[in-house]
Amino acid sequence: MQKLFKRIVILLICISFIPLLSSAQTNDYISHRAKNIIIMIPDGMGLSDVTAARIYKNGPNGAPLYFETLPNIGYQRTHSANSTVTDSAAAASAWACGEKFNNDEIGYHSEDGSYNPTILELAKYKGKATGLVATSTITHATPAVWGAHVNSRSCETEIARQYIEATGVDVMFGGGRKKFNPDTPDKCGVSGDFIKMAEEKGYAVVYTKSQMEEAVGRGAKKLLGLFADDALTPEKDRPVDTEEPRLPEMTKAALALLEKNRNGFFLMVEGSQVDWANHGNDLEYQITETLAFDEAVKVALDWINASSRRKSETLLIIVADHDCGGFAVNGPYGRLAKAGEFVEAGWTSKGHTAQDTIVWSQGPGSYKLGRAIDNTDLYYVMREALGYKVSGKQNK
Ligand SMILES: [Zn+2]
Repeated sequence: MQKLFKRIVILLICISFIPLLSSAQTNDYISHRAKNIIIMIPDGMGLSDVTAARIYKNGPNGAPLYFETLPNIGYQRTHSANSTVTDSAAAASAWACGEKFNNDEIGYHSEDGSYNPTILELAKYKGKATGLVATSTITHATPAVWGAHVNSRSCETEIARQYIEATGVDVMFGGGRKKFNPDTPDKCGVSGDFIKMAEEKGYAVVYTKSQMEEAVGRGAKKLLGLFADDALTPEKDRPVDTEEPRLPEMTKAALALLEKNRNGFFLMVEGSQVDWANHGNDLEYQITETLAFDEAVKVALDWINASSRRKSETLLIIVADHDCGGFAVNGPYGRLAKAGEFVEAGWTSKGHTAQDTIVWSQGPGSYKLGRAIDNTDLYYVMREALGYKVSGKQNK
């Protein structure tokens, strides 16, 4: 009888803990591991760029852009180690490596030659497939930080060499054919034929949209797509019949290849030219590049939303590396702009600014990005998503 009473008491104590346990099921107890990570970067896009593009596409009361529909929204500081105003090299290196770098450095500290692995490299160590997609040269600063370590962003041929010979990024789509096989050495003194090296290393190399789609159709394992000598053509200048793929098409092709890896993948997609439009204070250029980037986000969202499993296993982050131009919408004042109309707007400079940038995200661990953060914090969320330990103050 005493034994039975003891059991009942123990049972009652256990039951009384149940509500406590369930109230402890906050975000901190949910797994932050993600099978797939997709980071999409509208380079140099400020919040007013979003306003201008949305009004142009849908009107002031219209639907949001696709990336605006993500549930977690925060903003990040962008300064580099040595400058209040960052460049793309230092800003993207902070995401890829989790620490501040000087402007011009690609995941590499020039003072002592030190560096740590990038998120792409960490993903590779976990057996994941990896991809880089951009509308600039694929060796430009923002894609470079994920797959190379070099003291200057101008060493684009050395970056190409590292992609192929050292890192082995599985899928690369963008411009920059000339960087892989230049007539003159780059700033690091590197020259050579890294297209030939890619072929020797088992890459299929393609130069047109049809060749890209054909390679995707036959399930190429490693694919290098170099669709222009330098950057790709801006959206507003594209001929109708061009064989140059657009950002959404490259994103779709990359996903179709990367999804074949059973261990998942890491993919970076950059809308590189929003930045260049702001450097040029060119509104049509800015809006068309922002909207093309948003179409690429739709491709990623469609891929994710195709199954509830993908949705729970994929971390998606949309973030600009820095603002450019200090762009603001000034009008029309006193009446509402219409869809299809360019807003009245102005820029404060032709260079980058220190304005914080917005972070839109969804998926495992993304709630940590829905607040005021530093750009290095993105690294820790992605690192944890890959299943690596994150310690100290960053484990919040
Ligand atoms: Zn720039």
